[in-house]
Amino acid sequence: MATIYVVAVTGEGQARIPSVPECLFCRIASGGVPASRVLESPRTLSFRDISPEAPTHVLVVPKEHYPDLAALAAADGSLLAELVSQVHEVAAAEGISARGYRVVFNTGADAGQVVPHVHAHVLGGRGLGWPPG
Ligand code: 5GP
Ligand code: ZN
Repeated sequence: MATIYVVAVTGEGQARIPSVPECLFCRIASGGVPASRVLESPRTLSFRDISPEAPTHVLVVPKEHYPDLAALAAADGSLLAELVSQVHEVAAAEGISARGYRVVFNTGADAGQVVPHVHAHVLGGRGLGWPPG
């Protein structure tokens, strides 16, 4: 059976998809899959990574479906700004903003992106090596 997505067009003329039924992070955003929520803003949700790589490891996602950072950057600057603001709010709420934290957008295969719904990893609470692997 064919899958039909409802596609809307943003004010900037870019196609976006409010929700993709088989997308894990869309399902977390809609409450269909449980997650340990940290913060919420009108268009973003922050929740703990199920397999944390640091004492703080939180994912910040738009509630609507954008597959990767390229799609988000092309679509809506105000959403990107809201997401970055939430990244810092998460760091502040987790008590890691003073000592420092890392923000990672894995984008595409070479970066190891596994979940094709754009997400910022917010990592901190310990010294983080550089360069990353
Ligand atoms: P990526 O490699 O795509 O940048 O990162 C995906 C992240 O999603 C991984 O760090 C992984 O641990 C996390 N993840 C995968 N499945 C789940 C899940 O069901 N719940 C939560 N909270 N995180 C998940
Ligand atoms: Zn999605």
